[in-house]
Amino acid sequence: MTRRLDPQKIPPPVRKVGEVLASHGFQAYLVGGSVRDMLLGDAPNDFDIATDARPWEVAALFPHTIPVGAAFGSVLVEIEGGFVDVTTFRKEHDYVDGRRPSRVEYADAIEDDLARRDFTVNAIAWDMASGRLADPHGGLDDLEACLIRAVGDPVERFREDALRTLRAVRLAARLSFDIELDTWRALETEAQGVRRLSAERVRDELFKILEVDDVQRALGMLRESGLLFEILPELKEADRVASFKPGQPTLLDHLILTAAGCPPDPLLRFAGLLHDLGKISTRAIRADGRVTYHGHARAGAELARRIGTRLRLSKREIERMAGWIERHMSVDPSISAKTLRRWMLAWDKEWLIDLVHLCRADAWASGWQGEIPYLDRVQQEVEEIHRRGEALPVRRLAIDGHDVMRELGIGPGPRVGEILSRLHEAVLEDPAKNTREALLQMARAWGTGKDAEPGDREGENADER
Ligand code: ATP
Ligand code: MG
Repeated sequence: MTRRLDPQKIPPPVRKVGEVLASHGFQAYLVGGSVRDMLLGDAPNDFDIATDARPWEVAALFPHTIPVGAAFGSVLVEIEGGFVDVTTFRKEHDYVDGRRPSRVEYADAIEDDLARRDFTVNAIAWDMASGRLADPHGGLDDLEACLIRAVGDPVERFREDALRTLRAVRLAARLSFDIELDTWRALETEAQGVRRLSAERVRDELFKILEVDDVQRALGMLRESGLLFEILPELKEADRVASFKPGQPTLLDHLILTAAGCPPDPLLRFAGLLHDLGKISTRAIRADGRVTYHGHARAGAELARRIGTRLRLSKREIERMAGWIERHMSVDPSISAKTLRRWMLAWDKEWLIDLVHLCRADAWASGWQGEIPYLDRVQQEVEEIHRRGEALPVRRLAIDGHDVMRELGIGPGPRVGEILSRLHEAVLEDPAKNTREALLQMARAWGTGKDAEPGDREGENADER
């Protein structure tokens, strides 16, 4: 089968940039992922044009340009309401540290530019003027054979830039391709090169990997090649200890299955991948021979915080992820609406729905088949709580501190706050109580000491399981 690229599928702004370049005597090629995806019949997520025009020449041809990677020859052209990346042909030299080339040199021929690219299927260029394909590395054959193969010597290419090892896995998983054998072997021998990458590049690539549909295969390849243990050494331990779950020899099997059972949100899947790591330090054998992992959710959350910090996740991402892990054992059939309201207040609805997704993935990965009625029920209840606006913050109570002081004839002080927070508890327990009359009545009762002391709040420890 000869693959063809249908020019009609190229967005008008991209075509326009090609026409302008050509009309000034410059070469213009569509390159990289856009050519690969179009040849496969997929919609590309971005379009890159390569040209022999120098960046300043590109900038002079179009009224609106942004020099995105000026040092590397990239110019972002804004045209007809779209953005197109235009990059000057270049050769790269002297990868000193397995991260970035220390020097780039502009080139005049597309072949030079294709030679610096990572994989053959990413090194096909489409001449926008003639409609011909430039394919000096056999990328079309590899597209037919569904293979990810390094351009040139794979060991060398991975030593130049270790990020390519992770890109190989992502691409193979995303396209359902295999990694060609020599390229795979180089992946295994060069895996430790990722230690030299910046945490940000590893994080970004890892999160892209966690987004692919077949994340189970992606994580399997990371594991088999050793890459997984280079970027997350904590998982090495998980591959040593037994999981005690059917069909899953080690804890790592369970972690990978849980990640794969989560919806395609990279942060949630990352939480799935780490969620039971706390089992390693908390594992104990009871007198009756049973294995227990008391407190593993909290220990796991702590580890996840450390890992998230190392990978430079944002504070918010770290807290959401650690929160899911810390609570993943707390969603059981007896969970109260009050606890759900309290959690929704502390986080938000999306966080809480995602927690249910994580628990479902965990149950599936533990051998549960099909639907899990109590989790479906919890999920519905969360939706209802949200719809009815029942996760009220204390400032949205029907009365405020002034009302409390007036009603009880007391002045400002900690007592007012205590009563308000107790009223808040009562409303989280039963939202129907959020009326002026009901709250004033309760405040009166507590204020005159006709009731238990504020402080012994029922359900307070529900979060601590
Ligand atoms: P995606 O669909 O994720 O955008 P892509 O292949 O287009 O995949 P980009 O990061 O957009 O990936 O890169 C565009 C092109 O640049 C690639 O197809 C490849 O030719 C080249 N490239 C990107 N990163 C590297 C790298 N680390 N080493 C060599 N070539 C690279
Ligand atoms: Mg791309």
